[in-house]
Amino acid sequence: MIKRKDAIILKSFDYRNTSKIIHVLTEDSQRISVIAKGARRTTSRFGGNIEPINFTQIVYYIKEDRDIGILKEANTLEPFLNLKNDLYRLNIAWGLIWIAKKIPDPQDGLFGLLERSLTFLNRGFEEEVLVYFLLSLFHLSGVSPKINRCVMCGSKEVKFFDIPSGGAQCAECRVDSAILVNSLLLVLYDLKKGRLRAWEEIVESDEKKVLEIVLEYGIYHLGEWLNRLRDILPSRIMPKER
Ligand SMILES: [Zn+2]
Repeated sequence: MIKRKDAIILKSFDYRNTSKIIHVLTEDSQRISVIAKGARRTTSRFGGNIEPINFTQIVYYIKEDRDIGILKEANTLEPFLNLKNDLYRLNIAWGLIWIAKKIPDPQDGLFGLLERSLTFLNRGFEEEVLVYFLLSLFHLSGVSPKINRCVMCGSKEVKFFDIPSGGAQCAECRVDSAILVNSLLLVLYDLKKGRLRAWEEIVESDEKKVLEIVLEYGIYHLGEWLNRLRDILPSRIMPKER
């Protein structure tokens, strides 16, 4: 059966003498593999269209009972050249791509989230995109933290954030593991809603604090696999220590 889908290229590697295999996340948030025959020849029609991170429309043939398809056409819709020309933002993009490859059950909406996040990076946003991506991923996975109200009593007077309890806490309900975060909750709330400019309002030490809280939240609620993100990202973005 021939299929035509928008996709983001997650990975590309050499296969036999002249071909490549690409792993992609399709518009319906499925991860599939396709063989690009002859892609390593300089005359290949696939050329740069199957480079990782690219947002590409692919046409491929796949048999009912196979899990690998054969690529027929690939046309880049957005190569994200701005972010690829900036090592810092490129590293963050690799982090997002890595999560999309590793997350055990890709949820509906993952493709749209990845595409939006790469677009934000391409426009010049930096680590705030990682926070936005993770908060949105928690939402897709059904483990979204409560941010603007106390998870225990519903009060709006929240100052603390507790990872195991699933979000913000007021001074009365706070448990021992809760972290004092004050107005950083407002920044988290804005980022969750896609208002990335909120990041400009906080100082660098608070940026690190927010990144750490969001990653730890993910490790607790999505699984230990996410801790490897620390090895994927350079330490100036995400510290190695826990
Ligand atoms: Zn409370």
